[in-house]
Amino acid sequence: MKVCKFGGSSLANASQINKVMDIVLADPTRRIVVVSAPGKRFDGDTKVTDLLISLANAALKGENTDREFGAVIERYAEIAQELNLGEEIVRKIEMDMMDRVAQVGKLSEPEFMDLMKAAGEDNNAKVVAVAFEARGKKARYASPKETGLVLTGEFGNATIDPDSYATLSRAFSDFEGIVVYPGFFGYTKEGKVATFPRGGSDITGSILAAAVCADVYENFTDVDSVYPCDPRIVPEVKNGEGIATMTYREMRELAYAGFGVFNDDAVIPAVRARIPINIRNTNRPSEPGTMIQQSRRVIPGTVVGVASADGFINIVVEKYLMNREIGFGRRLLQVLEEEGISYEHMPSGVDSQCVVVKEQFLPKDREHKIIAAIKKHVNPDFVTIERDLTMLMVVGEGMCYTPGMLAKACLALASAGISMSMVNQGSSEVSFMIAIRSQDRDAAVSALYKAFFG
Ligand code: ASP
Repeated sequence: MKVCKFGGSSLANASQINKVMDIVLADPTRRIVVVSAPGKRFDGDTKVTDLLISLANAALKGENTDREFGAVIERYAEIAQELNLGEEIVRKIEMDMMDRVAQVGKLSEPEFMDLMKAAGEDNNAKVVAVAFEARGKKARYASPKETGLVLTGEFGNATIDPDSYATLSRAFSDFEGIVVYPGFFGYTKEGKVATFPRGGSDITGSILAAAVCADVYENFTDVDSVYPCDPRIVPEVKNGEGIATMTYREMRELAYAGFGVFNDDAVIPAVRARIPINIRNTNRPSEPGTMIQQSRRVIPGTVVGVASADGFINIVVEKYLMNREIGFGRRLLQVLEEEGISYEHMPSGVDSQCVVVKEQFLPKDREHKIIAAIKKHVNPDFVTIERDLTMLMVVGEGMCYTPGMLAKACLALASAGISMSMVNQGSSEVSFMIAIRSQDRDAAVSALYKAFFG
């Protein structure tokens, strides 16, 4: 069985929904269809989720909500009309929306916001189920409540209650035909609607794929495959080949450095259950897309992708004979721990220790306090803070045991006149990381792309 998730752009209007149905019906093993809310129909359009957030905000402020309410209904009415689904489904959505808006003041603000945001996927799943039926296919809408998708944690940032997997697995074993399931939300133990973070329909798809032990989790979006580097930085990457297969490990390393494949949370359930993930294009379903799985055939000396992430800071601490001082590293990290700063990497020299952190944890106005605390606890000769660093990440299982991979990257950067601030290669040898000044980022990514894929 396959679990397929379709993103908002794949469901933005009737013609996109028709494509979705064609894709699902082309393969009888595509049994569970997870849907997002309708997304943007064109550049500059507004996603239904964003319309719902505006509606919720207006209701919370006690303002007249007619305009925002109308904008949401309009989107579904347009889809229903173009698909010839009749008036009834639109009336049901209108009733549902009225019930939700009427909860303002009865729920806390975060609870109300989640109830409103969830309406996008919930009503879209109902529309898509009716659209399958209109084509004469056996299909049903299934709700997270009836199937037992229980969430915990913060509203708007919820996580799955692990007991849900068993309940979901039992619930799905009874269903026949195609099941259309809304992404992005579930219910708390108390029966309140709670949502995952934005983009969370990917998480729902991954959870269901794990719960039913799917053969594959197909994630349909609007790209043919994952590119080996960011096309906004290197546009010509679109003329070359996309990534056919990558391992979970490679995906994790690339995602860490800002690769927009998936966010980590989205894939955890599928990865833990070892379900292969296939990223595919709704607009070009004949393309095989990118397969992400536990292992793959690897050609030695090749890399799968080059990623870059901005916003890093390096705290450089120097002290003569540091290597003889027992407890130096612990005391240094304790300063960060007490300040609630998580660190990313810790490259060291004989008498120097660097700690790389993300800029968001150490804004300029906290710098003074942190330096003072480091001086107090480790009594260094110097402490300096380097800002505006970018981490370049070169990733590929094929790098393992292949000499010259780092040399190739260094040569490419040197030829482009880019100086490296730091190099870090983990013991897995599946990636190495190079820190550079952020102003050199685009040139560096282009140089690395040319060196490894050109
Ligand atoms: N509709 C939600 C959002 O826009 C969730 C999703 O599309 O995955 O964030």
